[in-house]
This record gives sequence, structure tokens and C-alpha cells, in this order.
Amino acid sequence: MTRRALIAGNWKMHMTTADAEVLASQVAEASKDATDRDVLVAPPFTAIGAVTAALEGSAVIVAGQNVCWEEQGAFTGEISPVMLKDLGATAAIVGHSERRQIFGESDQLINQRVVGGLKFGLTVVLCIGETLEEREAEQTLTILEKQVRGGLDGITPKDMTRVVIAYEPVWAIGTGKTASTAKAEEAHAFIRKLIGDLYEKDIADQMRILYGGSVKPANVDELMAQPDIDGALVGGAALDAESFQRIINFK
Ligand code: PEP
Repeated sequence: MTRRALIAGNWKMHMTTADAEVLASQVAEASKDATDRDVLVAPPFTAIGAVTAALEGSAVIVAGQNVCWEEQGAFTGEISPVMLKDLGATAAIVGHSERRQIFGESDQLINQRVVGGLKFGLTVVLCIGETLEEREAEQTLTILEKQVRGGLDGITPKDMTRVVIAYEPVWAIGTGKTASTAKAEEAHAFIRKLIGDLYEKDIADQMRILYGGSVKPANVDELMAQPDIDGALVGGAALDAESFQRIINFK
């Protein structure tokens, strides 16, 4: 089964509106010939409107870096799926390790976000991954299973077509360390098998599983050559147009 690759850039808490417009235009230019793969950018909420405007006419997908499960209401500091769509976003990242580690988001809360994002028609990129301590304690697969089961609780097979999983070992994010391609592939194959057990093989086969954690021009080709790695979620290198262009155009 050939899955369409997805290269996603997470801009985190970077970029003024003006900077974001420039970078978005560079991403549009960098990806215009990459018609056999999808490209996504997740700007900060404040820049989403400007980015979707700058990307008009391009196939680049715009995502929020998080999403609430309610359409509106007393949820100070949150953004609703309807608000994301209003700005032109069609996807949302959920459960990023920075949300889990710094802001204490639990699998249960993350599941509410997944459910809400899907309910309002967004594509959801669910991030999972083990910490260094968990890896050293040989708990990686147990943690991944807990996060997949927790994050996808109640999600129907039909809605699974709008779910992407991003495997991001926490110790590899922003550290310059990358999981070896063999370790990354092992985790991806495990996640795909688990999705097959929880749903069915067809759903597992069509599901895109991205790798994230210090992906850069120097390692993207080797990672993308693995059978169960269908794309990349890129932080630091997504802020540099030249690096992101090379990653989009992986070989
Ligand atoms: C991320 O933000 O999801 C990420 C993987 O960051 P980096 O590429 O900088 O490690």
C-alpha cells in the first residue's frame, strides 16, 4: 500500500504575522513541484489568517497547534475548531509533547481534543512519544500503546481516515538527537500493528504515521526510506525555508 507522504512544519511559538507571511510564501514556492506529497504548516494561532492568505492557490495545508473540543464558551486561552476553520485551517496538531510535558495535558484531555477536532471536520495529527526515562526503562511500546488507546478512545473507523499519528520520542525533540532509523521504524511498525488490532488492517494500512524529533535535511531521506514512516513532523528545521524545502523534497 502506498501512502501519500506528509511533511508537516510546526512553527511552535515563533513568527510575527509579517515573518509568517514571508515563510508561508517560501513554503508555497518550495512545495509547488512536490505534487506527489502533502505539505502542512502549523503557525501560531495569531498568524493563521495571514498564512492562509499568503498560501492562497497553493496546496499547502494549514493547521492549528492545538484545538479545543467546544465550538465556543468559557474556555479562556483555548481556540475552537470552528475558529480554526474560520481562519482557513483544516487540521490541528493535538497532544504535542510540549503540551503533555509543560502544560500537563493528559491522554484523557488530548482525547477530548481529538474528538472535538474530528467532530468539526478537521484532520487531527495526534502526537505520541516516550520520554528518555521511559525508553531507558524499556517502557517505550507500553507508553505508545497507552497514548494511542487513550488518544483515540471512541474514534470511529470512519473518522480514522482524518487521523494522522506523529511518533515523536520526547528525547529527540529539539535536542539534535534522532532515533536511529531502525528504532523509529520499530515504533512505527508497532503503532501500525496496534491500529490494525484496534480497528482493521485496511485502516492501519492507509493511516499515515509521521516521525518527529530533530528531522533535518541530513537525515530525512533515510527516515523516509523506512516502510512505515510516511512523513515528518518538523520543528526547528521548519523555520528555515531552505532546510524545510530540502525536507519537503526528500528523495
Ligand atoms: C516538533 O516540534 O514536533 C519537533 C519534532 O521539533 P524538532 O524538529 O525541532 O525536534
